[in-house]
Amino acid sequence: STAAGRDIRLYGLSKFYGPFKALDDIDLTIAPGEFLTLLGPSGSGKSTLLMALAGFVEPSHGDIFVGGRSITALAPEKRNFGVVFQGYALFPHMSVAENVAYPLKVRGLDRPLIEAKVAEALALVQLDALAKRLPKQLSGGQQQRVALARALVFSPEVLLLDEPMGALDKKLRHDLQIELRQLHRKLGRTFVNVTHDQEEAMAMSDRIAIMRAGRIVQLGAPRDLYDLPETRFVADFLGKSN
Ligand code: ADP
Ligand code: MG
Repeated sequence: STAAGRDIRLYGLSKFYGPFKALDDIDLTIAPGEFLTLLGPSGSGKSTLLMALAGFVEPSHGDIFVGGRSITALAPEKRNFGVVFQGYALFPHMSVAENVAYPLKVRGLDRPLIEAKVAEALALVQLDALAKRLPKQLSGGQQQRVALARALVFSPEVLLLDEPMGALDKKLRHDLQIELRQLHRKLGRTFVNVTHDQEEAMAMSDRIAIMRAGRIVQLGAPRDLYDLPETRFVADFLGKSN
């Protein structure tokens, strides 16, 4: 199991904002090396769950374990989880290379090592030629690749992706779905992807967790979910009662 990493277990994970329950008592085990997608309508808690995994959202209740050890109290940079944020959240005043170097600087690596790792990460996403550009000088697809390189540059055990195709047009989304799936196979790491796009979830995932109102209401392989009476799958996705 060392090659594929460690399992992630969530126990009774809840998040309150005042009286509002954004996450409602979530139990979930993510297998080492799996591609799991959180699928659900806007406001169902997908980003909150992903950011709780990343360490940017502090749970109100519950625990997160990786390989049997609690990480609930660990700071984000101690978790070894790479994050592609919703909308990418690139630093607008930093070049592509500086954006990708950022997580390494935060972790205190020295400069020659940072330069080598940044070059490697940019090559992985085929952005070598654009290292000196600013984010605003890039297309949406190129910005997404910068976000991906920044998330992967420290060789994280787990990659967390919050609507990584959200801002892209349909053709590009399709190409990037294939690339992301290839990247997953190549790296052999655990990927947790967030989307509200049912087709994307079906095409890419080992398993899909369908979320509604802060809960996981269905969990299974695409084929198993597809085999549900179609009306039910669609109704769950839309958040209707049946
Ligand atoms: P999704 O990513 O599925 O669209 P989110 O996880 O972003 O949903 O949000 C889930 C719910 O929690 C939404 O109703 C949202 O308004 C609420 N929420 C998220 N973050 C906060 C916050 N910082 N303060 C108050 N409410 C929040
Ligand atoms: Mg979201």
